[in-house]
Amino acid sequence: MTKPQKQQSNPSYDIVIVGGGMVGISLAVLLAEQQQTWKVLLLEAQAYKQSDQAEYRPSFDARSTALSWSSRKIFEAAGLWSALQSQVSHIEKIHVSDRGHMGLTRIDASEAGVEALGYVVENRWIGEVLLEKLATTSVEVVAPARVAMIKPLKEGVRLTIENTTENIDRYIESSLVVIADGANSQTAQKIGIHSNQQPYGQQGIIANIALEKPHGGVAYERFTDQGPMAMLPLPDYKGASRCALVWTQPTETAEQLMIASDEEFLKALQKCFGYRLGMFKKVGERYSYPLSLTTSTEQVRSNLVVLGNAAHSLHPVAGQGFNLSLRDVAVLADVLGKAKTCGEDFSALDTLESYQQQQLADQQNTLLFSDNLPKLFGQSSSAVALGRNTGLLLMDLMPSLRSRFAHFGMGMATKEAGHG
Ligand SMILES: Cc1cc2nc3c(=O)[nH]c(=O)nc-3n(C[C@H](O)[C@H](O)[C@H](O)COP(=O)(O)OP(=O)(O)OC[C@H]3O[C@@H](n4cnc5c(N)ncnc54)[C@H](O)[C@@H]3O)c2cc1C
Repeated sequence: MTKPQKQQSNPSYDIVIVGGGMVGISLAVLLAEQQQTWKVLLLEAQAYKQSDQAEYRPSFDARSTALSWSSRKIFEAAGLWSALQSQVSHIEKIHVSDRGHMGLTRIDASEAGVEALGYVVENRWIGEVLLEKLATTSVEVVAPARVAMIKPLKEGVRLTIENTTENIDRYIESSLVVIADGANSQTAQKIGIHSNQQPYGQQGIIANIALEKPHGGVAYERFTDQGPMAMLPLPDYKGASRCALVWTQPTETAEQLMIASDEEFLKALQKCFGYRLGMFKKVGERYSYPLSLTTSTEQVRSNLVVLGNAAHSLHPVAGQGFNLSLRDVAVLADVLGKAKTCGEDFSALDTLESYQQQQLADQQNTLLFSDNLPKLFGQSSSAVALGRNTGLLLMDLMPSLRSRFAHFGMGMATKEAGHG
């Protein structure tokens, strides 16, 4: 989906977003919702082609995303939730277990006093809904268009575009550039903003699994010595119950699982997960992702923001990466909008720093939670195993602790409760 516009030479924009993945488009939509006179351009390196299942598109691939309550509220405010919810599965319970140990806990939506602990939706559907909404806004979209270089100017920035089939100038100027081009951002690196990468030595295998039994709205988080796994409830497909699997495994084992036959894969999965969902009947296409905690060395400069995976990319076990980024998006859009309304320079460093300051605690807490969870459960020493099992057992006995865990997962842990 493109909305090409022939540009005059060196056209000026208020905001150029580099990267039209889940985060970049979300920001574009939230800015458009403000009814400001923004001149916004979104540049995406790959073409958007609807319903081309074979095509690999980084954000809108075969993954599913567990959306938190805070994400729901943000999408609701942007007028996206009503479309999204037609293909959303509610997480009514979370079942946390530790393979080979007795610890087990259950977290219940009704206990936490909410209608759902989260919502599972396929990334392809998020993509369709976001792109449909984007097409109704005044945001200019050019895809494919790869940003090759960003150069700071006295006022604003200059972007160099390559690899585009659209009729657009090679050079574009903008007051503000938002880099949302994914983990290990190449665009940021070219201007000296680097990525700190701490690999987990694991891969995350994702696939949809057809089930024998209905999942009953239960999300399973299972910790094993090899790595954590999640089975997230999906909406039924052609009458069949399905779960979205995220299975973290050491790189070598993951590679073997990726080339295993469907039968071998399901057998290994069944052995690791057990029979709480009955027999696994079928596995869909499998994809694997190398996992690391990646953070950018800077998130804001004058006229520049680094956002989404380009700013922080997390272990998927806690399902927090996109949810955190969407909270960043909502706060950034709010800060920019308020500055514009007050006639201030929305691209000035102090404006952008105030965005970063507002999101600092949320980012730090979420990073810590997502990083500690797989590490704690990745250790097989008996002392740690005893500790984590005691923790899980205690959690099963202590409703308030469970409800705190649940609220964290829902994106309401710290000051971000303001969105909820
Ligand atoms: C297995 C797995 C499961 C996950 N599950 C969850 C979950 O349940 N809940 C959750 O909250 N999060 C989850 N996440 C995290 C979530 O997927 C990411 O946070 C999200 O995809 C980040 O989106 P993004 O737009 O920042 O980056 P990306 O999705 O990487 O998009 C970046 C875009 O930028 C484009 N681009 C790159 N370079 C350029 C350039 N030079 N010029 C123009 N465009 C460019 C790319 O083509 C791409 O479209 C999961 C992640 C993984 C790996």
